[in-house]
This record gives sequence, C-alpha cells and structure tokens, in this order.
Amino acid sequence: MKVVAAVKRVVDYNVKVRVKSDQSGVDIGNVKMSMNPFDEIAVEAATRLKEAGTATEVIAVSCGLSSSQETLRTALAIGADRGILVETDAELQPLAVAKLLKAVIDKEQPQLVILGKQAIDDDAGQTGQLLAALLDWPQATFASNIEIDGSIATVTREVDGGLEVISMQLPAIVTTDLRLNEPRYVTLPNIMKAKKKPLETITSSDLGVDPSPRLKTLKVVEPPSRKAGVIVPDVATLVEKLKTEAKVI
Ligand code: AMP
Repeated sequence: MKVVAAVKRVVDYNVKVRVKSDQSGVDIGNVKMSMNPFDEIAVEAATRLKEAGTATEVIAVSCGLSSSQETLRTALAIGADRGILVETDAELQPLAVAKLLKAVIDKEQPQLVILGKQAIDDDAGQTGQLLAALLDWPQATFASNIEIDGSIATVTREVDGGLEVISMQLPAIVTTDLRLNEPRYVTLPNIMKAKKKPLETITSSDLGVDPSPRLKTLKVVEPPSRKAGVIVPDVATLVEKLKTEAKVI
C-alpha cells in the first residue's frame, strides 16, 4: 500500500508574523520557514504505517516554490521514501493545491493520502476535504487514531464533546489532528540519509493544472490590540463595575 503525505512549507509557528504596510499580506521575507506542524504529524503517521508493515512506500508531496524542497527533505528525514515537488510560483489556494494533489494521486495511485487538518498560515482547513471531493473518495478529518485492516481504515476523529470512530473503504483521505502522534525528532544521520533519497520536481503545467487563484485578498490587517486591564481593590467594586460600566449583570 502506497501512502502519500502532503506537506506545506509555512512560516515557523514560533515566528510572530508582521502584516505588510500595504495590507496585501504577511511579510515572509527573512523569516524562518518550517513544515506545517500538522503535516509533520501526517508524515509521522505514514512512516509508522510503513514501520508496522502496513504501508510499502511513503511519498511526500509539496506544492509551491523551489524552497519547498527543504521541507520535503525534512519529510524524507522523518521517514518518507521519496518526495515530489510540484513547483509553481503561483499564489496557491486550497482548491489549486487539491487539484495539483489529485493529478499526482492519479499518477501514483496511493491507497491512503494523509494531509494536515489545516495549514497554520492560511488556516483554511479545506484542502483535504476538497481533494476527497475531487477524487470522490471517503474522508476522515481531524484524526486522532488510524488503523488499517485490509482495505478498511478505522479512524478515530476528534469531535465536539468526544471521539467518533468511523470506518471507510480505501482508497481514502485522512486529515491529522494534534493528538494523532508526536512526530519524532529528526536526527543528523537521518538528515544525511534523506539527502540521498529521490526527490522529483514537476510543474503544474506537466500535470495540466491551472493553479491560478480564485479568491482575491482584499486586505490583511493586524488584530486590534487589547486595552490594558484594571485592577480593582475588592469584589464589591468589581460587581459595581460589571453593573455600571460593562453592563453585563
Ligand atoms: P489548508 O486547507 O490550506 O488549511 O491546508 C490543509 C492541509 O493541506 C495542509 O496541512 C497540507 O497537508 C495540505 N496542503 C495545503 N497546502 C499545501 C501545499 N502547498 N503543498 C502540499 N500540501 C498542502
């Protein structure tokens, strides 16, 4: 069973992003970039399936600029067997990524495709769902456990107020939630080994996909800054302020 893990290069989660002065987006010049954290979980999940003998090959796929090769190398260091970069300098929106991934999947014919539940830069949370619709495959989103038995995947999903367990026929799409696993620490020997693993680069036109955006960003602004709080001397003053100033009681 081949497994594909989709990995996106995003601004590292520790970086405090700044909005560009022309409000056209976020300034990513000179900031640290990393693999989207939910995609690390996806690669880890795929690698564990291979280590358990369930998967035969793990393919990491990324769409974007040539710098995404670095992100793919990280996926190879975690345990993916090979990488595919769909290189494009288009501003990629979830629908375009889903179309590009579908074209790769049509070629590679994996039984399972694992994506992150959301990319921490655009917070769209759409790509896995769009991909499942384009492929007409079943999907299990926000997975906290995956078990494969023959051609059936049993997935535990994190839902409001509990856990939902569903089963679906492969081939299928899974998107990862935070508690699915804790990705391994990437060791230096594995980084060295990853340099020798195959990494193929193709373009969106090789796949016959037009990745141009369908949505136009009107503006991006900083969230309003919070006003400073007030320390009140006692509970009576607090209750009085809640009544007269905040008017909440
Ligand atoms: P989003 O719908 O943008 O929140 O992204 C959800 C998931 O789709 C991510 O966690 C990735 O697994 C995958 N994805 C999004 N964009 C890309 C990309 N450019 N290349 C590869 N995978 C992507």
